[in-house]
Amino acid sequence: MNAPAYIGRFAPTPSGYLHFGSLVAALASYLDARAVGGRWLLRMEDLDPPREVPGAQDAILRTLESYGLHWDGVLVRQSARHAEYQALIERLLDSGLAYACTCSRKQLEGYHGVYPGFCRDAGHGPRDAAIRLRVPQLSYGFDDRVQGEYRQHLGREVGDFVIRRRDGLYAYQLAVVLDDAWQGVTDVVRGADLLDSTPRQLYLQELLGAPQPRYLHVPLIIQPDGHKLGKSYRSPPLPADRAAPLLLRALHALGQEVPEALAEARPPHLLEWAARHWDAGRIPRSRTLAEAQLR
Ligand code: GLU
Ligand code: ZN
Repeated sequence: MNAPAYIGRFAPTPSGYLHFGSLVAALASYLDARAVGGRWLLRMEDLDPPREVPGAQDAILRTLESYGLHWDGVLVRQSARHAEYQALIERLLDSGLAYACTCSRKQLEGYHGVYPGFCRDAGHGPRDAAIRLRVPQLSYGFDDRVQGEYRQHLGREVGDFVIRRRDGLYAYQLAVVLDDAWQGVTDVVRGADLLDSTPRQLYLQELLGAPQPRYLHVPLIIQPDGHKLGKSYRSPPLPADRAAPLLLRALHALGQEVPEALAEARPPHLLEWAARHWDAGRIPRSRTLAEAQLR
């Protein structure tokens, strides 16, 4: 059998429950896959136990199920993949592409998040140190299906970035690239808060010799007070008994025009209709959307 032409995924972090913004991202990625008969995988990005909210993993799975967003295959947990991440870290260290950094937070103040390279040639051992990936003095860009052309100069705008923290936790950037490649993901559909992570991920893909997926970044939902519905925001779980109206609202946020006749439809019917009529070209070309402006 040939590899499927489309493999998408949803990759929640259990640092909180799914909120309306994550529902919008999950729905977009689900529909984009189902519209073309593709596979839709689920990966739990549980790399940071101290920031994990107890019960969030189960709650996320239950919400997806009660909203009719059924995934293909078995759930993958990043917490089960430490050996793979560590092997990659060691390869990158051995080849000189990565190095150990012992800089304190204080030493890095005033550099606006761009690592000034203090430890680049220091030859520190990897124990009790962060591991950083050396970035090239090059610009990396891609053509996002919704947001258009996006590029960043890795040397000037990002700097050598952390791939394993000093406390031993693996960085999102490293794990996401390795796992997307391992799972054969062809299409990444996620929130626009990750647009500025993508050039780093393109560089890592290049190092791994992994194919570059297509990207689609959906607008981030902003609350009335301007608060981003982001990872750290603690919102209650999305109520199971509100699945249909919230799916309708999420479709509306994604620019999909749902006929009045579907106003009372149950989630499976709604999703089936939405997959058949999915038009990613209607997604607002904006990095953020105010929740208050949605019906
Ligand atoms: N785990 C990330 C998050 O919850 C998403 C990763 C991705 O889709 O690349 O923000
Ligand atoms: Zn350093």
